[in-house]
Amino acid sequence: MSDVTRMTATEVAALVAGGEASAVEVTQAHLDRIAAVDDRVHAFLHVDTEGALAAARDVDARRAAGEPLGPLAGVPVAVKDVLTTKGVPTTAGSKILENWRPPYDSTIVSRLRAAGTVPIGKTNMDEFAMGSSTEYSAYGPTSNPWDLTRIPGGSGGGSAAAIAAYEAPLAIGSDTGGSIRQPGAVTGTVGAKPTYGGTSRYGLIAFSSSLDTPGPCARTVEDAALLHAVIGGHDPRDSTSIPQPVPDVVAAARLGATGDLTGVRLGIVTEFSGEGAEPGVLAAFRDSVETLTKLGAEVVEVSCPNFQYALPAYYLIAPSECSSNLARFDGVRFGLRVGDDGVKSLEEVMSLTRDQGFGPEVKRRIMLGTYALSSGYYDAYYGQAQKVRTLITRDFTAAFEQVDVLISPTTPFVAFPFGSRTGDPYQMYLADLFTIPTNLYGGPAISVPCGLSEGLPVGLQIMAPTMADDRMYRVAAALESAVGTFTPPAL
Ligand code: GLN
Repeated sequence: MSDVTRMTATEVAALVAGGEASAVEVTQAHLDRIAAVDDRVHAFLHVDTEGALAAARDVDARRAAGEPLGPLAGVPVAVKDVLTTKGVPTTAGSKILENWRPPYDSTIVSRLRAAGTVPIGKTNMDEFAMGSSTEYSAYGPTSNPWDLTRIPGGSGGGSAAAIAAYEAPLAIGSDTGGSIRQPGAVTGTVGAKPTYGGTSRYGLIAFSSSLDTPGPCARTVEDAALLHAVIGGHDPRDSTSIPQPVPDVVAAARLGATGDLTGVRLGIVTEFSGEGAEPGVLAAFRDSVETLTKLGAEVVEVSCPNFQYALPAYYLIAPSECSSNLARFDGVRFGLRVGDDGVKSLEEVMSLTRDQGFGPEVKRRIMLGTYALSSGYYDAYYGQAQKVRTLITRDFTAAFEQVDVLISPTTPFVAFPFGSRTGDPYQMYLADLFTIPTNLYGGPAISVPCGLSEGLPVGLQIMAPTMADDRMYRVAAALESAVGTFTPPAL
């Protein structure tokens, strides 16, 4: 049997379903791969060897008993450490949650288990999903498998690196401003942010509740769609979950894979196609537009004038919500507690715990958000940002009257070297220049590898109307059928 770690999730599931490999063999092969490369990549914060093998044995037993298996049964999946996993450490990349073992599974993880996938471990991330490089993880950064001296994107750099390094065929990320798509782009993998409310936030450690969206990471578009279908759909435990079925993203991906985009209208976002991105990124983007045209798509330019205000609006809204969400980490209820000597007051213990438990970027966001929400400044900052959010939504609505989807580069630059943007928060924030508008609007968007610039991967972003997630999969799969997938140099 050829190396299962190189196979797509679709191929692995077929092997297991056909009895050519057991789920245990598949899982062990991935555990071995992790053991061989993860000291260099550091994609994982925790590898759940026992739990993964138990889940795999369960799949094998069900198959032996003749029970029907789901389309991803027996496939290992790496889970971003922002999702609760019962009894398995969940830190959100923060010292304040070190050694915390949640008493319950997030809905995403419950659905992964119910589908017979094999949760193999928890992936590294920027602390509380704030960052674009994983350099803000309290547990040290993850390396990009394409070049170990460069960042794998963030905040979900661990999930993207795990699949790019063949440590798992599938991973789960969460996208608040780009944390699935940007790591996908810079690691040459596929990352999809579903429609907000299309995937459940129950058990997702909250950063910015009106933006946070869990979603799939994979090496192919079809694999991402299959995972999306497993984790998506209404959840009564999340009050913002959409009570409608997820559109048929798998069928859309398979349709796209035929390479025919006749009748599909693509809108190039004028504001994101001229400047602000590296020349190599723009060149790869332009080549992709040509490819998509050859596949039959009709391409027009669409102006979205308010997109230029998305980044500043996001950096008021997201910190405001985080300042409220992170108030729960008080040294009493979860994880770390500092200074509880029987003498210090509750307030002193809370203050010491938060001072030592949170890293500098998290503290910066809490301070920004607290300021933006304070009385006297609320209207000028938070209120104004919410108005900009409405304008951005109007840009999307107007655009989707003219075209089926919008396209842009996913990120302005390829994977950058460690340390090159940590000195200036604004330079780090720019990584999400093109991904943030979608989060403010609530629609779905995907990043699909579209080429290389100076030997490093470039992603194309496809943005669709809310609850039209299928459209982006069709276009992404069509592009993939023309340009192929991208393999990093051997580790
Ligand atoms: N990089 C952005 C931030 O730091 C987005 C993060 C995310 O999507 N979780 O806020």
